[in-house]
Amino acid sequence: MPISRRNFLKVSGGAIATILTGCATTGKIPEKPSILPKVPGEPADIILQNGNILTVDTHDRIAQAVSISKGTIQKVGMDSEVSSFIGPATQVVDLKGRTVTPGIIDAHNHMIYFGEQLKYRLDIRPPKVRSKMDLLRVVKEATKTKLEGDWIYGCQGFPLPLKDSPTRWELDEVSPKHPVFLPHMSGQYGVANSRAVQVAGVGKFTPDPYGGRIQRDERTGEPTGRLIQYPAMDLVRKNIPKPSVTEYEEAIRYAAGLFLPYGITSVQDVIVYMRRHTKIYEQMAEKQALPVRLYILEYIDSLPKAKRMVSLHHHFHSSMCTFGGWKLAIDGGPAAGTTLMYDKSQLGSRHAFPFHQPEDFNKIVKLLHESGFQISIHVVGDEGMNICLDAFEKALESTPLSKHRHRLEHANFPNQRNFDRMQKLGIVASVQPSWIHLYGDGFQMMFGEEIANRTIPIKSFLRRGIPVAFSSDVPATLVFEPFWGFIGAVTRKTRSGRVLNPSEAISMKEALRAYTYTAAYAAFEEKEKGSIKEGKFADLVVWEQNLYTVLPEPTKIRDLKVLMTILGGKVVYQDEKAKLIPSLSPFGGEGNWGPLRGSNWPPH
Ligand SMILES: [Zn+2]
Repeated sequence: MPISRRNFLKVSGGAIATILTGCATTGKIPEKPSILPKVPGEPADIILQNGNILTVDTHDRIAQAVSISKGTIQKVGMDSEVSSFIGPATQVVDLKGRTVTPGIIDAHNHMIYFGEQLKYRLDIRPPKVRSKMDLLRVVKEATKTKLEGDWIYGCQGFPLPLKDSPTRWELDEVSPKHPVFLPHMSGQYGVANSRAVQVAGVGKFTPDPYGGRIQRDERTGEPTGRLIQYPAMDLVRKNIPKPSVTEYEEAIRYAAGLFLPYGITSVQDVIVYMRRHTKIYEQMAEKQALPVRLYILEYIDSLPKAKRMVSLHHHFHSSMCTFGGWKLAIDGGPAAGTTLMYDKSQLGSRHAFPFHQPEDFNKIVKLLHESGFQISIHVVGDEGMNICLDAFEKALESTPLSKHRHRLEHANFPNQRNFDRMQKLGIVASVQPSWIHLYGDGFQMMFGEEIANRTIPIKSFLRRGIPVAFSSDVPATLVFEPFWGFIGAVTRKTRSGRVLNPSEAISMKEALRAYTYTAAYAAFEEKEKGSIKEGKFADLVVWEQNLYTVLPEPTKIRDLKVLMTILGGKVVYQDEKAKLIPSLSPFGGEGNWGPLRGSNWPPH
């Protein structure tokens, strides 16, 4: 089967060059062109010394010092080995024993939409909204500040399960004249009022769209306003005015301004819904205005869209922004009851349906696989995972690719067969360990103890050699700070203090690797980042505490504090009190996109 050539646009240091690589008919994904500059000679631009440098290299070596030149790591070693790179203009930072790690890589994040929601939409997240009453009150208040007919569009979103979410008629009571659309926190469903449903032209006889469900009143057949999955939600939200390009750019800067003080230097945006949003990222990269490194997966919801997107040949690759491939979804999640489990008797799986019929799904996966790019699939339940693995297996049989690194996103409740097949097929597990802590009690309630104990079994993945990448999944998760992920992975303690299957707990060393090196691996970027090694990008985090010796207790891990974030050799954040570099202006010298904070952030 012939495969189209991959066309990478390389941007480095302002120079733009187009590089054509070979095709994948040989069964191997072509090597990406290197975007690393050559390791420069002395002297260094900046040297961090007298520290505890957790390199996360193959042997988890610990060094004392690291020198940086032209955005790249120049030397890692003992103080004496690095000091020879000190020149008259070198900025030397005495770490006084503090810890340095590679920059955190958030392997599953929705940065552009997260920023958009925080900046431009009605806040309907906790702590502002915790109940239906809160939600209705907030909507009612919003009607007072908007002109009649203007949309009331909530951010993602309110935390109520589907059955407790307001119907269109309840929303009509507080907003009869403004169309309203409110997404659930998970992003898996939303609620609209009658005005919004009418604008969308959705009525009693509107068929369910492909891959979505319009919930209907059992007696009358009228839509209840509850719309399940993206294709159903899109019927309404496609009518809502979108932010401009400038507003989206502002949203990206805003989100990055939140991430950098927590050490996040790379983000994998795993659902870019529209090509024009991909372009916004790319154009910011070209203008050297992207505040964090980006890896992009575009969302595919049907076979026609897959055909269209593959034919566009849009393959951008630079040091700041790379087009990685495709994102699909086969099931929903616990809150909507749409987790595709073999056990359909549980609250979390009762309303599950596959978003694609296996035959269509196999065709989509095969087509995308043949494009030579990565495929990642949202899947939460064990039955859903088998459908994904069937599709991967068939695609790999017809076009073997030894280095595909296809991913399962979430992979929350695998069974033994799922493990075996992931291992055999070389699938990456892209998981959100904060969920163990934040939602573990809810999983217990929705699935019972046996399934809840299977939640995100990180140790079992690692034991089988399945690569595990960590991430936050904001805004589908309320929080993005990496310490939440560390808490979930290392303690497996839920909010109520219950330990969810302690045999699946991992060490901080393993957790840091999953949030750095393996997250880079999940995007084919481990040669460029993810560990502190000569020649890699100088993306580093200075911490107040030693991550390897912090006590495995939620309160202790939550105290982990970032003192400085370095991206491409530039200090892009430093803690005001610690001021490791006293002469530096608060937000990183020439950087003009320093940390911004919304008044509603953090939500705790
Ligand atoms: Zn997500």
